Amino acid sequence: MANVLWLQGGACSGNTMSFLNAEEPSACDLVTDFGINILWHPSLGMELGVGVKNILEDCLSGKISLDIFVFEGSVIQAPNGTGNWNRFAGRPMKDWVTELSNAAQFVVAVGDCATWGGIPAVPPNPSDSTGMQFHKRAAGGFLGSNFVSKSGLPVINIPGCPAHPDWISQILVAVATGRAGDLTLDELNRPKTFFTSFTQTGCTRNMHFAYKVSTTQFGQRNGCLFYDLGCRGPFTRSPCNRILWNRQSSKTRAGMPCIGCTEPEFPHHDLKPGTVFATPTTLGLPNEVPVGMNKRSYLTVVAAGKSAAPKWSKEDMFVV
Ligand code: SF4
Ligand code: SF4
Repeated sequence: MANVLWLQGGACSGNTMSFLNAEEPSACDLVTDFGINILWHPSLGMELGVGVKNILEDCLSGKISLDIFVFEGSVIQAPNGTGNWNRFAGRPMKDWVTELSNAAQFVVAVGDCATWGGIPAVPPNPSDSTGMQFHKRAAGGFLGSNFVSKSGLPVINIPGCPAHPDWISQILVAVATGRAGDLTLDELNRPKTFFTSFTQTGCTRNMHFAYKVSTTQFGQRNGCLFYDLGCRGPFTRSPCNRILWNRQSSKTRAGMPCIGCTEPEFPHHDLKPGTVFATPTTLGLPNEVPVGMNKRSYLTVVAAGKSAAPKWSKEDMFVV
């Protein structure tokens, strides 16, 4: 039996919505088949008010063993470092986060806001939001770069806006069933099993990427979304085209550019109109080229692909 406590800070509940839609395994499977006991969750917990506070205090005193502490949302520190803009069960949420993180065997941050601060931490960041152990790409965040939970692991980061439901439920199962030792984390503390390949891996538009056939407008069925619509698939570590959403699709399969939500720099644009679904270029060259390429090799590959592009690659076709 593994006790899981899930709290929310500066959150929209998107990761909760995602988690509740998990299928392999589902949230119910976690309880019935994998020995997870959900101590409390904002959408599932039965207790209110003092009842919740008692659970949290029992976790701190050791009366209840806290195996996995899951945090969703940013850690809000405003105003003036007090955290009073986000109070929960009688005190600033950030104070619960500090103490529960130290009491837990494992700490899991779910979603961009909990991992790196997400959208709330974009300057001017009025809520003084940060992530559990990173502030954007900088190590540290709220708990500090040296933090490790009782298990000896740092905060396990499952980013995404929201994170895919199965990334959450599968990591919870791995931890709850004693297989946390099998998890290898990357430099951003993301499980490598999910965050080594790119969104582009498995994208059905890859042939069009290779032949530099561009989707120039939303709704076009063929073409690659990189050249004109700002797709971040070649830069973004995510399994979105391997572990499909709703078991059947992904953004790029549906004709929507990847917006890079599993990387700490998300949102990547200043969000001014016209800047999001666009590929910034200088003298016709994208300002960023796919990971592992330099501008010279990119130019060579693109020129070769474009000149070799067969007629069919420019025809209207289903790519899903
Ligand atoms: S649509 Fe995006 S992910 Fe797919 S091939 Fe093009 S750049 Fe890569
Ligand atoms: S396709 Fe890109 S933006 Fe969409 S969920 Fe995956 S990583 Fe995030």
